[in-house]
Amino acid sequence: MFPFVTTILRALRRGPATRRYPYEVRPPMAGSRGHLVNEPDTCIYCGLCVRRCPAGALAVTREPKSWTLDPYRCILCAYCVEVCPKKCLRMEPSHVRAAS
Ligand code: SF4
Ligand code: SF4
Repeated sequence: MFPFVTTILRALRRGPATRRYPYEVRPPMAGSRGHLVNEPDTCIYCGLCVRRCPAGALAVTREPKSWTLDPYRCILCAYCVEVCPKKCLRMEPSHVRAAS
C-alpha cells in the first residue's frame, strides 16, 4: 500500500549514502593526481616544465628565481613531472591544496 515506507525504513537503517563533505573527506585513491607540487630548493629554474606544459599553466623566470603554477589552467597531465631534470616536481594525491 505504501511502498515508499519500505524504502524510507531501509534508508534509515543503512544511514546516509553520501559523505558530509567537507566534514568527512574521502582519502585520495592511490595514484590519483590531486595537485602539482614543486620543491623550490631543488629547482634550477631551467624552464623545461614550462615548454612541455600543454595548458600554459606554468611560468618560470631565472632572475628573479620564480616558479608559478596557475591551478585553474593545470589539467594534471603530469608531463612536467616527467621532463623535470631535477625531479623536483611531483603529483600529490590530495585535491585539497595546503594553504601557502
Ligand atoms: S623542469 Fe624542474 S628544474 Fe626545471 S624549472 Fe621546471 S621544476 Fe624547475
Ligand atoms: S601537470 Fe600538465 S597541465 Fe599541469 S602544470 Fe604540469 S604539464 Fe602543465
